[in-house]
Amino acid sequence: MSTFRDDRPVEECGVVAVRLGDPPNGVDGPAPAGDARDVAGLCHLGLFALQHRGQESCGIAVTGGSEFRIEKDMGLVAEVFDEDRLDRLRFAGARVGIGHTRYSTTGSSHRFNAQPLTVRSNKGLIALAHNGNFTNARPMRDRMLDEGAVFQTTNDSEVMINLVARYADLDLIDATARAMTELEGGFAVVLADRDRIVALRDRHGVRPLVIGRTDDGGYVFASEPAALSVIGARFLRDVRPGEIVSAGPDGLTERQVLPPEPTPCAFEWIYFARGDATLDGAPVHEARIRMGERLFHEAPADVDLVVGVPESGLAAALGYARASGVPYEIGLYKSPYAGRTFINPNQRLRERKVRLKLAATGAVAGKRVVLVDDSIVRGTTSGRIVGLLREAGAREVHFRVSSPPIRWPCYYGIDTAARKELAAATMTVEAIRERIGAESLAYLSEDGLRAAIGIGRTCTACFDGHYPAGHPGDEVEKETLEALGVL
Ligand code: SF4
Repeated sequence: MSTFRDDRPVEECGVVAVRLGDPPNGVDGPAPAGDARDVAGLCHLGLFALQHRGQESCGIAVTGGSEFRIEKDMGLVAEVFDEDRLDRLRFAGARVGIGHTRYSTTGSSHRFNAQPLTVRSNKGLIALAHNGNFTNARPMRDRMLDEGAVFQTTNDSEVMINLVARYADLDLIDATARAMTELEGGFAVVLADRDRIVALRDRHGVRPLVIGRTDDGGYVFASEPAALSVIGARFLRDVRPGEIVSAGPDGLTERQVLPPEPTPCAFEWIYFARGDATLDGAPVHEARIRMGERLFHEAPADVDLVVGVPESGLAAALGYARASGVPYEIGLYKSPYAGRTFINPNQRLRERKVRLKLAATGAVAGKRVVLVDDSIVRGTTSGRIVGLLREAGAREVHFRVSSPPIRWPCYYGIDTAARKELAAATMTVEAIRERIGAESLAYLSEDGLRAAIGIGRTCTACFDGHYPAGHPGDEVEKETLEALGVL
């Protein structure tokens, strides 16, 4: 099945996990909706704050005492969870919950691939929610199948949960640590049993994961700090690359399982993470402003206005305007109602999609405009946006991109399209400029990007092809593992 994806990299997952503090006198009845001990409600709030990280499916698993309940389905958080469904996740003793929003990169877009995943093992029921990809999932899955394992989904997360369940002689933390040493790739994972959350990042810290603390002594883990604040948790710190952190009856336990070699995903700062996030100590909004400033210094243009492509190009456009002294203008409006549209569209509908989402304002009429966006994947949408500005009377459109050209596919949980579809993999900058119909086109350099993020090394594999956490094999192009018949 081919699904329409925006002409920009697409994030695939957000995770949240809540472990309440133990009740002061051991009494722990069912918490009503909105209560500070309503685990399902807290996970639900966290998922709303992470909706931008995945819009295909979502789910929540809640555990405590002898109970283990899960609800998941295709759709946005607001579509999947009404009060009746959340009520089914509320029960006496509920203390631990994990939630997930998903955009498939491995495993197709079906209900059975929605997360959290659950498995029954000698450790009892375990639930897992995962952001990223395991690049060695294929050989591990093949080996498990040869040994008689049964898989219920086609996503690579099931390989990890099987691995954890297999180490029958180890407790959940030790089994997870062991699994972590065998898995390669870029991933952040949360697991839950009846009484405990176990959270981890791969040794490169490619995908983000933060820890927060609630007033009742509980802990929250989430892909981004936005989910902590909406739940009412204070940010404690990031989970370190290669670290496992567990929240259980004995409080927070920390274990550095693998030596950290941090290379977090640069695209979290370019586009994926919400602008209010601070990841690995680097604030996202400020990094985007600096990307725009550096972009101006690297590629100035003689223009009248600076316009950003909403929402993700706005901060970089602001930085470009500040550095250049050229007025920042709202040249494009984005409809708040045209989000997730057109699965399997035909060409005619694809062309209309940009018009549904964006409209140019009269401010650009007769003006020479710098248009700033965060990335160009295929170039088709960029060309249509340039066309909108021209229809509105822009005299010149100079396109500036606040990331380097994307030339390589991502194997760490981001859908960047197949290599053959990536404009910069097969075309020169001049040929792309011609395709999108702009007067000029320039990208931010890799050095400029690194300096703007300001944390030293990051993963930049989609720009330079150097994969810090390995990749599935030289012959494998961007098609998902499933599309290749792998899973
Ligand atoms: S390849 Fe690109 S999108 Fe993927 S993790 Fe690395 S920087 Fe991020």
